[in-house]
Amino acid sequence: MAKIIAIVNQKGGVGKTTTCVNLAAAVKAAGKRVLLCDFDPQANATSGMGVDKTTSNGVYDALINGAETAQLIVSTPYGDVLPSSKALAGAGVEMINMEDRQFLLKAALRQVAANYDYIFIDCPPALSKNTYNALVAASKILIPVQMEALSVKGVSEVLSVMDEVKEFHMNDNLELLGLLPVMVDERTKITKQLSKLLGEKHGDLILPCRIRRSVKFLEAQAHGQSIFEYAPYSSTGIDYEIAIKRMFNIKI
Ligand code: ADP
Ligand code: MG
Repeated sequence: MAKIIAIVNQKGGVGKTTTCVNLAAAVKAAGKRVLLCDFDPQANATSGMGVDKTTSNGVYDALINGAETAQLIVSTPYGDVLPSSKALAGAGVEMINMEDRQFLLKAALRQVAANYDYIFIDCPPALSKNTYNALVAASKILIPVQMEALSVKGVSEVLSVMDEVKEFHMNDNLELLGLLPVMVDERTKITKQLSKLLGEKHGDLILPCRIRRSVKFLEAQAHGQSIFEYAPYSSTGIDYEIAIKRMFNIKI
């Protein structure tokens, strides 16, 4: 069965989608079977993987209309994608009267989990019903922490939602994979200050890897390509390769 990793942070713009797309591509390049489940209605991970976000409702149809998950999956050179779409924004309200509403994504992914080694879930920038669904479906949580802003503060909120999910027995096996420092620029004062603060508050939870800041990301995004396609030898591609080695012991 697949390891299911939810990439969570309630703030937007902190590197969730970039991390999700690049981890999927790196793990795929290492020969593993990968599914990226885009669970943000903005569907940036869907387009980041080169899939048109307007052709289907994607994961929304599995959640709300009971569509078969396998029918919604699109294959790409960087891994399979369960796409997202704008429709997902309404799912939180529509699921209110549904039985087992916290377990909808879990049920959708269970149908295909045996076909993959890793499933990465890109979460929306909120601790919403959708995010709870992702935390119930996941085996591990990865929290990207942007080293350029005060996103360090938000980490405790994610951790308390994780505790809540476990306390209410929605997912007893949920574990924290760790905190992944992203957009790291070791030369800047802010990165140094935030590293210190993060270390003091959550030292034992920080992963032994980091993703450096790179302009290549913005350029790749502008071209609608993954970093591996756009700039395979940039420092950042290497950082995600090192990250999968340290996080999952996978070598490309
Ligand atoms: P989120 O999914 O949390 O909203 P994104 O992954 O979309 O965040 O990242 C927000 C912005 O930061 C994007 O423009 C992205 O290209 C940029 N970005 C992400 N990671 C890096 C990085 N390591 N270096 C430079 N820019 C980055
Ligand atoms: Mg995003």
